[in-house]
Amino acid sequence: MIELKHVSKTYQQKKNMVEAVKAVDLTIQKGEIFGVVGYSGAGKSTLIRMVNFLEAPTQGEVWINGQNLNQLSKKELLLTRRKIGMIFQGYNLLSTATVYENIAKPLQLEGISAEVIEKRVNTYLALVGLSDRKDNYPAQLSGGQKQRVAIARALAHEPEILLSDEATSALDPETTEAILELLLKINKDLGITIFLITHEIDVVQRICDRVAVMEEGRVIEEGPVIQVFTQP
Ligand code: ADP
Ligand code: ADP
Repeated sequence: MIELKHVSKTYQQKKNMVEAVKAVDLTIQKGEIFGVVGYSGAGKSTLIRMVNFLEAPTQGEVWINGQNLNQLSKKELLLTRRKIGMIFQGYNLLSTATVYENIAKPLQLEGISAEVIEKRVNTYLALVGLSDRKDNYPAQLSGGQKQRVAIARALAHEPEILLSDEATSALDPETTEAILELLLKINKDLGITIFLITHEIDVVQRICDRVAVMEEGRVIEEGPVIQVFTQP
């Protein structure tokens, strides 16, 4: 479970203060797919970066599984951080490493044994349908395939939560649909909670259980997708 309790984030831009996120309260339940939708500049990236420990809130608290991140020791933060995987619009793959190495390297850094790493890479590459692409480099893959590798890399850490920052925004509609189906499968079959941000309402309507709409740093509407985006 992810809880944002009156979370605000202010940035200093030259002489101005920019309130990127303003007093946001949200609870994302275990097992759900939750979307935050809004235009560019609404504060979505700032919000998701606070859930992923990349930014600390200026005010308010972020809780993961009942733990207040502000109150965790470095060691506890590291353990909690491992429960969270993330995928991005730009995939963030290493161009000089093969598909296999892209997934294996972060696991090696965690000190996981070679035997377990091999098993996990094979398991998650099979799950995303890319077992035959192990020895390819990212440049040899399509955008959808690169995102599948990034998803396998995130899953190989066996996270409880998957964060998605505009994961389908660079993809054509058909590829987007295939990636969204994969995310649904991951949620249903592996029980992984998904928290995504997007500027595309279609994405939210296709896979999210609940949605929050952000505008100028605030959540202006929140609820089940069918209530927030009623069909005419
Ligand atoms: P979104 O993801 O919805 O496009 P962002 O969270 O990226 O919104 O940005 C919200 C606001 O915060 C924008 O005005 C942006 O310029 C500002 N902002 C985001 N990140 C930073 C940063 N690191 N430093 C200064 N201002 C930032
Ligand atoms: P997005 O809309 O997806 O957040 P941006 O291009 O706004 O993409 O942001 C890309 C990166 O630049 C983010 O890591 C964000 O923190 C940073 N950033 C965005 N706006 C500013 C800003 N005004 N000043 C400094 N950094 C910024």
